[in-house]
Amino acid sequence: MADEVYDGSPVAALRRIAFLLERGRADSYKVKAYRGAANAILPLPADEVAARARAGTLTELAGVGASTARVISQAVAGKVPDKLAEAEAEYGAPLTDGAGSALRARLRGDLHSHSDWSDGGSPIEEMAMTAMELGHDYLVLTDHSPRLKVARGLSVERLARQLDVVDAVNAHLDGGFRLLKGIEVDILDDGGLDQTEQMLARLDVRVVSVHSKLQMDAEQMTKRMVAAVRNPYANVLGHCTGRLVTGNRGTRAQSRFDARTVFEACAEEGVAVEINSRPERRDPPTKLLELARDIGCLFSIDSDAHAPGQLDYPLLGCERAEAAGIDADRIVNTWPVERLLEWAAP
Ligand SMILES: [Zn+2]
Ligand SMILES: [Zn+2]
Repeated sequence: MADEVYDGSPVAALRRIAFLLERGRADSYKVKAYRGAANAILPLPADEVAARARAGTLTELAGVGASTARVISQAVAGKVPDKLAEAEAEYGAPLTDGAGSALRARLRGDLHSHSDWSDGGSPIEEMAMTAMELGHDYLVLTDHSPRLKVARGLSVERLARQLDVVDAVNAHLDGGFRLLKGIEVDILDDGGLDQTEQMLARLDVRVVSVHSKLQMDAEQMTKRMVAAVRNPYANVLGHCTGRLVTGNRGTRAQSRFDARTVFEACAEEGVAVEINSRPERRDPPTKLLELARDIGCLFSIDSDAHAPGQLDYPLLGCERAEAAGIDADRIVNTWPVERLLEWAAP
């Protein structure tokens, strides 16, 4: 493989390796070296990178280690870097056999993503950059709310600061793509939302999700979810059953609630039922997805990405939506940004 010709830049090679590792849900710390090295050489002129590769002085740069220096040297020499070939072989296969790709081509954005401000692995601007590269017109940044301490949920103060960062990122992006302000706000035990109204009002899109007491009694859970869905700030009901079907966090049974009552409330309030595309979630389960379809709900096909490479997951949700025969116009992230924002406004 190493003899194959490589005609991309070393930055592109490093970023592609990171993307593939993330998509394969490798630990963030394994990925950080590649993204760090890409950022280290990004500002340097190409001939300086090439000269350092020849002289063996790449590792003098902060953020470049022996293994990433090898990737850079191989790329500069026009050879496919070994690490890139390995990552392509292990994680580069298409996520589906083609199913879902027609619908995926109609998605214009993603309504659920996390940065390293909460429990994601990458900075905000890297998430935005990758969303652009994947062809999106918009990405909603939805870091967690204060009560989810294990995920470093954002206090009012931190969220307010984040909104300034989002403005700054957009100011650099000159119009073609928009990073939207959002939150994945915890649904409290009584159905309230875990952020102040004042802050919720400053956001473009709000995903509401249950993250605690997932196994509460069905009647209580139904009331809790309906109250959240009826909150005027709610836009998307995130991963409604909370189930985990695979992966290193183990499996988890779905929460019990009256799905018809909850989805009818969603349909009445115009709240989208999320099709969470993460391979370990596949939420809602197919029967519930079909129930929501029959009740007339809107949907949002989201990545719930915690790293840039995971922004590729929506194809998996598209495969499921297509199999369930859900009309593309009922999927809110096929809409242009203006229509989306109008729908999401309280
Ligand atoms: Zn969540
Ligand atoms: Zn999430």
